[in-house]
Amino acid sequence: MTSIADRASAAHRYAERLARHLPAPACTAADIARTTVRLAVLLGIDPEHVRPAWPWQRAARTTRPYPLTLHVTDCAEGAEYVFRYRDPLYPDESFLLLGLCPLCAGPVPCADIRDLAELGTYLARAPLPLPEDGRPPADYPDEFDADPGHGPACPFREPA
Ligand SMILES: [Zn+2]
Repeated sequence: MTSIADRASAAHRYAERLARHLPAPACTAADIARTTVRLAVLLGIDPEHVRPAWPWQRAARTTRPYPLTLHVTDCAEGAEYVFRYRDPLYPDESFLLLGLCPLCAGPVPCADIRDLAELGTYLARAPLPLPEDGRPPADYPDEFDADPGHGPACPFREPA
């Protein structure tokens, strides 16, 4: 069994190595690398199975490059998960798990994930039925409503 110190050291080395290879300013790359390792630790997996997506590259030159999208591979089951993080500058926010909108099947934030048990709760209950009043399920994060991932005809899509 690997010691805590060894695992902490490996996480530190991985974050530094990832930050050196990200095409972003050093401080931005360090924030993204730290967030990548945080999600891996939260999920209890090797950080190499968490990959930051790259759309933020273009945005980084103009406005804020976030939210950050992180793709996760579950090697045990071959499943893929996609998380969004609002801003890696702030290390105390939850991760948003992307799931399919129950109406349009677009990839949208369906759960706030702060720890592994919250992910387990979501997976045990998803998909949540939509309330009859036309609002999103109360357990969904605020970001579900008006997310650009909704299809063009979806009532939850942000008005143009
Ligand atoms: Zn939708």
